[in-house]
Amino acid sequence: MASLCGKVALNVARRNALCGSRRFATKVTMGDPVEHSTGLEKREYLSKIAGNENPFDLKVIKRGAGTKGQPNEIPSAFDARLVGCICEEEATNVTWMWLHKGQPRRCECGHWFNLVQKAPL
Ligand SMILES: [Zn+2]
Repeated sequence: MASLCGKVALNVARRNALCGSRRFATKVTMGDPVEHSTGLEKREYLSKIAGNENPFDLKVIKRGAGTKGQPNEIPSAFDARLVGCICEEEATNVTWMWLHKGQPRRCECGHWFNLVQKAPL
């Protein structure tokens, strides 16, 4: 008798789950976020659709030579940008510094950084 009750309960639960999923699949849908977004968010979506996965240059950049004559170039659409340098590979902290347009700057570790103008989105 106990096993029969278990089967009945299981069938009722399966039927409810099936009805529930059919109901939501036909009535509730989410709109396309590109159509709902506006302003800067929309430009970000359009840029990603066009193939630029990093429109604001927020991903970590691997340092190059970083000498005074060949500094690491940091893109920015503004006159200044906050830059974090992971001076050593095993470092547990980040050295932060403001980088201003036309003023290359040297980090404590000796690497040079230069702000490069970039067109805004
Ligand atoms: Zn550094």
